[in-house]
Amino acid sequence: MRFDVISIFPEVMAPILQYGVVGRALREGRIEFCAHDLRDHATGRHRQVDDAPFGGGPGMVFMPEPVFAAVQAARAHNAGPVILTEPWGTPLTQDLARDLAAQPGLIIVCGRYEGVDDRLRQAVDAREISIGSYVLSGGELPAMVLVDAVARLVPGVVGSEASLGEDAYGEGPGGYPQFTRPARWRDQGVPEVLLSGDHGRIDTWRLEQSRLRSPT
Ligand code: SAH
Repeated sequence: MRFDVISIFPEVMAPILQYGVVGRALREGRIEFCAHDLRDHATGRHRQVDDAPFGGGPGMVFMPEPVFAAVQAARAHNAGPVILTEPWGTPLTQDLARDLAAQPGLIIVCGRYEGVDDRLRQAVDAREISIGSYVLSGGELPAMVLVDAVARLVPGVVGSEASLGEDAYGEGPGGYPQFTRPARWRDQGVPEVLLSGDHGRIDTWRLEQSRLRSPT
């Protein structure tokens, strides 16, 4: 699966993706990541990509043409949907991440300032996605959240498929409490059932616990 991300700060993203299972998947070629500098698609000497909003108001807005051109350039390598990171977009959920992981790729546009000229949405048939009901200063962190959440659902990225099933929001019980050595730590023990070796009881206990923890 291929991720193309368009941003005025393309260099901030690759370092985040170098580590852990996502980093390994990149090195193994299971996923590809390419950050594009929006300014490479600006026209004019000043490489301007933003301008003041019609109707007045604070801040600047990304002009549609540089973003459109950047999306078209990414399109040459990526057949996936175009996603605009937007605080008011469809909330990112595990179900949505699963749908997106079935795509051949994603082209993600990171906004800054007051966002992107609204005409772009229709021109590139974009889907707007929010990572939560709060406002960040740019779309780069949301893009990284999206890439991480989707990439780990690509087959082979997380070492064992079983561990995906045991995630919170996975197919099996997930989000149950976990413990490791030592069995006694600062006056706290470990639930006896986990030391029992009785896998039937352990499964039942984990299922109960994950129900208690299920987010609403
Ligand atoms: N005035 C704008 C805020 C823009 S924030 C508004 O109220 O909509 C600047 C950029 O950060 C946005 O264009 C978007 O790309 C990104 N962004 C901020 N918060 C986000 C969130 N919760 N989810 C996804 N993207 C977000």
